[in-house]
Amino acid sequence: MGNVYLTGAGPGDVELLTLKAARVIKEADVVIYDRLANPEILKMAKDGCEFVYVGKEDGRHIMPQEEINEVIYQNSLKYENVVRLKGGDPFVFGRGGEEAIYLQERGKTFEIIPGITSAVSAPAYAGIPVTHRGVAVSFRVVTGHESPNKKESQIPWDNFKTDDTIVFLMGLHNLPKISKKLQEVGKPADYPCAVISRGTTKDQTVVVGTLEDIVQKSQGVPTPALIIVGHVVELREQLNWFGQ
Ligand code: SAH
Repeated sequence: MGNVYLTGAGPGDVELLTLKAARVIKEADVVIYDRLANPEILKMAKDGCEFVYVGKEDGRHIMPQEEINEVIYQNSLKYENVVRLKGGDPFVFGRGGEEAIYLQERGKTFEIIPGITSAVSAPAYAGIPVTHRGVAVSFRVVTGHESPNKKESQIPWDNFKTDDTIVFLMGLHNLPKISKKLQEVGKPADYPCAVISRGTTKDQTVVVGTLEDIVQKSQGVPTPALIIVGHVVELREQLNWFGQ
């Protein structure tokens, strides 16, 4: 009987939540959330709403995905309005597709509420447009979770020679390998890149560097963090607006 809302929580700044997400959270009987969803959002829920934490850190699951799927499903048998709240957008490295398939296979109804992904909004708050006329005609969002040294890599590294913007999510721990790999496929050592940590929040930190020095410069930067590679990073000099 219950309906599940696979809901994007946005990147961190609570005001980047959509009106639709805010509405379903207010109506929720249970909110199933992970670490990346700003806890401030939970305060919007009505009295008596239940909260279930299914923590997840940098792609490492405290609870295995299978179990999370089952928790969502079980709650949908119990409650009318189930909100599955996920950081950013549920379909951008959020495993929202897997959760939706699990529900669909069990005859449950669901709705997807897209969220503002960190892949675009953290750069925006850092003053870095992911595309810019004359600088980058496209951007790609890539998992940084997979080691670039992996034998049968699913990532088409050879395509990364172009000047299109590359955003790596979940990649901070692989940054040394990623920067090395990008140089191996032909990017110069002084190619611009940046690490954006806790983007869109008051704790946002931005480290600007090159493929050669970014590892050393960004040491100790806290997660969640993304890596953005491309000449668009240079625009930050003029566009850095947040926290000014
Ligand atoms: N669905 C999410 C991404 C989940 S993968 C989205 O659309 O944003 C988790 C990764 O997202 C983190 O490892 C980090 O690379 C990135 N991330 C999430 N929130 C972030 C933030 N506020 N600042 C920088 N990176 C963030």
